[in-house]
Amino acid sequence: MDRRTPLDLAYDALAAARAVAETAAARADAEDRDDGFPAADVSDLARLGLLAAPVPAAEGGAGLGEEPGSSKLAQVLRLVGYGSLALGRLYEGHVNAIQLVARYGHASQRARLFADASGGHLFGVWNTEPPEGGLTLDEAAGPTLRGVKTFASGAGFVTRALVTARRAGQGDPLMLVLPLAPGERADLSAWRAQGMRASATGTVDFTGLPVAGDDLLGGPDDYHRQPAFSGGAWRFAAVQSGGIEAVFDAWRAHLAASGRGSDPHQLARLGDGAIAVESARLWVMRAAEIATGATLEPERVVAYVNLARLAVERAGLDVLQLAQRSVGLQGFLRGHPLERLSRDLATYLRQPAPDRALTTAASEILAAGGRAGDLWERSAE
Ligand SMILES: Cc1cc2nc3c(=O)[nH]c(=O)nc-3n(C[C@H](O)[C@H](O)[C@H](O)COP(=O)(O)OP(=O)(O)OC[C@H]3O[C@@H](n4cnc5c(N)ncnc54)[C@H](O)[C@@H]3O)c2cc1C
Repeated sequence: MDRRTPLDLAYDALAAARAVAETAAARADAEDRDDGFPAADVSDLARLGLLAAPVPAAEGGAGLGEEPGSSKLAQVLRLVGYGSLALGRLYEGHVNAIQLVARYGHASQRARLFADASGGHLFGVWNTEPPEGGLTLDEAAGPTLRGVKTFASGAGFVTRALVTARRAGQGDPLMLVLPLAPGERADLSAWRAQGMRASATGTVDFTGLPVAGDDLLGGPDDYHRQPAFSGGAWRFAAVQSGGIEAVFDAWRAHLAASGRGSDPHQLARLGDGAIAVESARLWVMRAAEIATGATLEPERVVAYVNLARLAVERAGLDVLQLAQRSVGLQGFLRGHPLERLSRDLATYLRQPAPDRALTTAASEILAAGGRAGDLWERSAE
């Protein structure tokens, strides 16, 4: 079997991401249904070494994300998102989980879980809970879990789930990495979404699942430790920026094919769109650099990444509006490339607490003093 492993010194994650993106784009329409899932593309991620790539280089992986400024990981996420936002969402969750295991796992846990990633297991990070309450670790009963996770991407397909759960009566959540069999405990019946239909973002009921001591990862509230928690938002922004490029390219191709491109209004919109696309890319690269560079105080890192995720959201909303205006009704008809790409992007731009992200960043900037141009420069030694 052609399983290229990242152990090869010449492993090229960008070439792998380009290859995955190309086939994922070709398959994405077929998976655009309520019970869709890009299973063949996830197999390609495994076959081309991308599931193992984020494993640290010192522990047998390619160390994707360990390069200066996480620049290669940012590009890989963008490329996969360009091919398919649903696949990009799944891959971002996998990368997040591997990074959390690297940061908080003890040696034998890391060895076991990294071997699982290299062996083709898809990981996910499931934190979102219903308003009425989420997952509880019931120590009296074994210990076992009680409750559900909602909006869990890859539900029924992720076979290593990193979840947050609270001990009864305690506030700070713990992290658990749980093995799941395909299809186990997953319910996709509520995932009737406008876009991102192939991301299998469902509800998973863990009630009655026994927990082993080695399932616990790190200590209480490590999951929310800053700046990694909020600062990690740069990764979903990277995936989104790929989706923005895909919408832009579908719009550009339509103008070229329809012969309407030379109209000055169309050209002006396309120029504005190109500014938005490049703005998103630049914000993502700088956010990745700041989030992983450890040169700023945690609050400042979080403020920058909060601004970056909102700048990328703005760029996405602008490109959607411009593309829809330029292409017109054709872009809303099923079968037109813009139609699904727009639905997927509009849906994936919805991320938690955008108002709070903006106002907490603004509060940090207000309190900072100094010159605006120095806000994101290295802290005084
Ligand atoms: C495709 C997809 C896949 C996902 N996969 C996963 C996954 O695998 N794992 C996971 O854990 N989660 C996942 N999620 C869920 C995700 O992490 C967020 O929970 C979700 O996107 C939140 O979106 P929202 O628009 O409901 O956010 P909200 O935070 O509810 O924001 C909606 C609006 O309400 C405002 N608002 C927020 N809080 C308040 C408040 N207290 N008072 C007043 N206004 C408020 C916001 O600023 C915003 O204007 C996924 C989401 C998507 C779209």
